[in-house]
Amino acid sequence: MNPERRKSRMEKVYDVIVAGAGPAGLITALTAGTAGLRVLLIDMKRDIPRVFRACCCNLIIEPGTHGETVTHTPGSIRFEKNRFAVPYSGAVIPLKKSYKVSPLGNTLKINGKSRDGNVAISYEKEVLLNDLFQRVQGNRMIEIRTETQALAVENLRSGVRVTIRTDSSLYHVRGRIAVAADGVNSKLVQSLGLNQTRRKFFARFRVASYHMEGVDCPYPDAWITFVGTGHTRGRRGQLYMCPKPHGGTIEPRVYELTIGIPVVAAAPGFTPQEELRYFTTEGRFAPWFRHMKIIDTRAATLNFYTPLTNPVEGNVVVVGDAAAFIETYVQGALMYGYQAGNAIVKHLATGTGLEEYAASWAKTFEYNDPEEIKKATQGFGLHVLRDEDIDYLFSLTKGDEVYGYVNEFSDPITVRRTLLSHLDQVRRERPQLAAQLEKFAEVSVHDALQVK
Ligand SMILES: Cc1cc2nc3c(=O)[nH]c(=O)nc-3n(C[C@H](O)[C@H](O)[C@H](O)COP(=O)(O)OP(=O)(O)OC[C@H]3O[C@@H](n4cnc5c(N)ncnc54)[C@H](O)[C@@H]3O)c2cc1C
Repeated sequence: MNPERRKSRMEKVYDVIVAGAGPAGLITALTAGTAGLRVLLIDMKRDIPRVFRACCCNLIIEPGTHGETVTHTPGSIRFEKNRFAVPYSGAVIPLKKSYKVSPLGNTLKINGKSRDGNVAISYEKEVLLNDLFQRVQGNRMIEIRTETQALAVENLRSGVRVTIRTDSSLYHVRGRIAVAADGVNSKLVQSLGLNQTRRKFFARFRVASYHMEGVDCPYPDAWITFVGTGHTRGRRGQLYMCPKPHGGTIEPRVYELTIGIPVVAAAPGFTPQEELRYFTTEGRFAPWFRHMKIIDTRAATLNFYTPLTNPVEGNVVVVGDAAAFIETYVQGALMYGYQAGNAIVKHLATGTGLEEYAASWAKTFEYNDPEEIKKATQGFGLHVLRDEDIDYLFSLTKGDEVYGYVNEFSDPITVRRTLLSHLDQVRRERPQLAAQLEKFAEVSVHDALQVK
């Protein structure tokens, strides 16, 4: 017999090949494996639960986020509408307030709107991944290959073929369904040509973060956003800070400081790492960091494409950030991974099912609506105002009782509503600024992202 034919006869065909073992890939693999499918799960990392990529990892608790309400209860994170839970054995820090801080140090304060008075809940991604990975390892239907990169996927007449690279080899694996869960810069989505045919490119951001002990933060238990161009030397980007559980505990207090900077070819500017160093050692708020000890650093590059409104292409299912604009959030990656896993199980049993996952994604992933992209990016868009105007506007909100959540979609609305409640005074004192505020909804996505 022809040796090639013999080889292909013997080749193992998996039911599902999952590329990427982040939150989306782990839960998809677990859902499929639990239903008895033969799963191959691959990831570039050696140690799956380790996190190198920047992620503030706050639980977005606003009801209805991506059509779901997510809560933390001891030992788990629960998804009310989808009726499932994932294990989470780590510590949490409920965040009670969200502060927007102007370059001069004026603040716009938002109080937690949840029943417990929280704006969000800070948790630890390593613990979540570790808890999920332990379940995956305990499932004998799931084969795991680490330090293995998925380079491309092809739809065959029946099934898929995934090209894989390790340090020492380049080979193919075959499956009935492939899942692209390889994150925001997905190689599998790129290999299918979907970035060209189904998406529009907006911008590239570079992100860096410090995890620090010894920070003298005047706003503990808060999500902090530093708003305005005066916080950075390059006058671009946005800084965030919040306390994080670390190594399973909340003491000593660890804060995460993150910056995201748009990459603009014509005006290269400073790297995120340089800006973090400047902010913590020379900026207006450097005294907060006088005693800081950096215990971890992380980074990321994000390509902002419009989402894949249809995340299914033949036998390839795209899950989590791989299909998103900016991000699905960790909880979105889990929720859509769970939905995709169930859809695949049904599809392989009955011949239909993937379209149910696609329909759910199309309906609930908020960035699928171009208006939501516009509204959410305007959250960054206060930068189009002058720093002195932001200082002035925040000073007006001093006695306000504002309630809200950390959430890309509702937060810009909360801020705008708060500022507009002072419009009469702004009209009297700074008519030009009032006109700008009134036209805020017209700020383009490119201006809001500072990539023009
Ligand atoms: C600065 C920042 C702050 C954020 N803050 C929050 C927050 O507060 N709350 C929140 O919920 N979310 C937050 N997010 C978003 C969150 O990190 C993502 O939405 C979530 O991690 C997406 O999960 P995923 O599984 O789709 O992708 P990822 O978590 O990116 O996982 C992808 C996995 O695929 C692997 N991989 C990548 N390419 C390949 C390849 N070619 N072959 C094999 N393996 C591959 C990676 O090693 C990784 O394990 C933030 C993100 C950023 C950048």
